[in-house]
Amino acid sequence: MTKISAGINEKCPRCRKGDIYKNSIFSWKYAAMHERCPYCNQKYEIEPGFFYAAMYVSYAFTVAELVIAGIAAFYTVGESNLWLLMAITISPVILLMTINFRYSRTILLHYLSPIKYQKDL
Ligand SMILES: [Zn+2]
Repeated sequence: MTKISAGINEKCPRCRKGDIYKNSIFSWKYAAMHERCPYCNQKYEIEPGFFYAAMYVSYAFTVAELVIAGIAAFYTVGESNLWLLMAITISPVILLMTINFRYSRTILLHYLSPIKYQKDL
């Protein structure tokens, strides 16, 4: 499994086999994570407050969504109805909230943490 497919499938960055999350992304408990990888026992929160850094990744996602939706809304609705313009601009951030949350942590684990892939696990 490649690093990108492991990230997309939310697998452990060390073994790329164990799941990071306990439930589906569409579950009400979408945020519940395994404390350790069920396959290789890698601890995900490698230090206290490690996942606070995922807020920066989430912030980048949110800004990108706002800019894309804002430009799309501006060219479709225009300035005639500002409430509709704001609603269209903000709605992707609300609709993609679970995806932002989970993938910001997944990207943090895969690309911004010292956990390295170990092929022979
Ligand atoms: Zn693992």
